[in-house]
Amino acid sequence: MVLADLGRKLTAALHSLGRATVIDEDVLNAMLKDICAALLEADVNIMLVKRLRENVKKAIDFDEVAQGLNKRVIIQQAVFQELVKLVDPGIKPYQPKKGKANVIMFVGLQGSGKTTTCTKLAYHYKKKNWKACLVCADTFRAGAYDQLKQNATKAGIPFYGSYTEVDPAVIAGDGVEMFKEEGFEIIIVDTSGRHKQEDSLFEEMLAVSNAVQPDNVVFVMDASIGQACEAQAKAFKDKVDVGSVVITKLDSHAKGGGALSAVAATKSPVIFIGTGEHIDNLEMFEEKAFISKLLGMGDIQGLMNKVKELNVDEEQMMKDIQKGRFTLRNMYEQFQNIMKLGPISQVVGMIPGLSSVFGAAGGGAGGVSDQESMKRLKKLMTIMDSMNDKELDDTDAMKTFQRQPSRITRVACGAGVMEMEVMALLDQYKKFSQVVKQMGGVKELFKDEKNMKNLNPAKMGKVYQSMAKAMDPQMLRAIGGMSGIETMMKQMQQGGQLPGGMNMQGLEALMKKKKGK
Ligand code: GDP
Ligand code: MG
Repeated sequence: MVLADLGRKLTAALHSLGRATVIDEDVLNAMLKDICAALLEADVNIMLVKRLRENVKKAIDFDEVAQGLNKRVIIQQAVFQELVKLVDPGIKPYQPKKGKANVIMFVGLQGSGKTTTCTKLAYHYKKKNWKACLVCADTFRAGAYDQLKQNATKAGIPFYGSYTEVDPAVIAGDGVEMFKEEGFEIIIVDTSGRHKQEDSLFEEMLAVSNAVQPDNVVFVMDASIGQACEAQAKAFKDKVDVGSVVITKLDSHAKGGGALSAVAATKSPVIFIGTGEHIDNLEMFEEKAFISKLLGMGDIQGLMNKVKELNVDEEQMMKDIQKGRFTLRNMYEQFQNIMKLGPISQVVGMIPGLSSVFGAAGGGAGGVSDQESMKRLKKLMTIMDSMNDKELDDTDAMKTFQRQPSRITRVACGAGVMEMEVMALLDQYKKFSQVVKQMGGVKELFKDEKNMKNLNPAKMGKVYQSMAKAMDPQMLRAIGGMSGIETMMKQMQQGGQLPGGMNMQGLEALMKKKKGK
């Protein structure tokens, strides 16, 4: 995947700073050369790449900064900021308002992904408890209404369309009016496209727009056309009042860098990106989070949001952790939560440092496929399914199993795995429970957010050490060793309050899963 490649190359270039003993102009130039080459390869416009290069160079004055002092940080921050600028049009997109009808009209060429994205977006709002629906105003393409109907039915979203009416403006107007009367909040109007920009398409767009008076016009664009996106986005923007953009097919071999920077250049905010054909493959687009993720720095805010969507009951878990208590059942529940979070590669991309191991920067699956990851997780859960309640709730399960090895044989038999695999699971459990025990010793972790700043360093050091032990060595290296863990924990603390122990443990469970690779 091109975006993941770009992420890897940018990260490698940034890491070259870490390896240099002295950071001078030569080191900076070498790094910039690699960064620019990676961006050009991803099809970013050469003028934009040049600007990035100049701005990074301007950000640091080698004569002024004292030897060794923060040069690395200054440069890395400058690169980060400039990368964000590449994809940031500096304009806020339309925000739907709850409790009123928000009419959103989709436009774009045929095959760009309008109908697919319409359903994804309606589903996205539905999941957040908005009343969302779809109107099919595509009378141009044969079977368009059937396609929308099928998608909408699968997702359980009300829809409107007509087999007999030939005027798309009439259908759109009728559908929107009906749904408005029924109190719908998100009314999405799908329109037809043409293979290329032509007058008849724009005329039809305007007629539909006049009929429905949209609050927001979303322009859908296929990433595969790379830099050509700029001209296309401009053409649409000139004809209708494009309020925001969705870029689709960023999971493919599309030159995503070109599409994203080209759209930003037209001053249109990208609100979502499409990363697959499935209804779940729609990711909210936020410039900083996107770049963080691309660089393998994680998107902690995004992860927090996902965790909040879970609505898990964390109270009991929290009480247990405070006591330093962690059972196999706790671990089982954590795995369940991870499965609920959805495609693992997406979740992994949000966690700093992990994507480089999984190769999942940019959202798609990389080194380990989602299917494979899910399978491993399910296998571990199957093993735990063969344990009895006493074993699952035992606070010293490891000892119990060691003292009575016949239990291991029984569980292995029941789950249809080798005894070795049960032992590996227990070993991992032991490492996790060690972390929880250490965390239980840091009372400030559980008070309130303000206390997060006053954590006892010695006690936290122990927590980090036990986390390092619980991790796969390869992953530990990728995260940047002990200091990497600390940075990650700090990011989590800044990214939002720790909602229970959930995310911290969720993280660990994820890491554990990786270990099975
Ligand atoms: P429309 O003509 O603009 O309505 O486009 P469609 O919604 O019918 O989509 C055209 C094709 O692109 C379909 O095969 C979709 O499954 C596919 N598609 C849409 N979005 C994505 C995406 O984000 N990733 C991938 N891989 N395929 C997509
Ligand atoms: Mg369509």
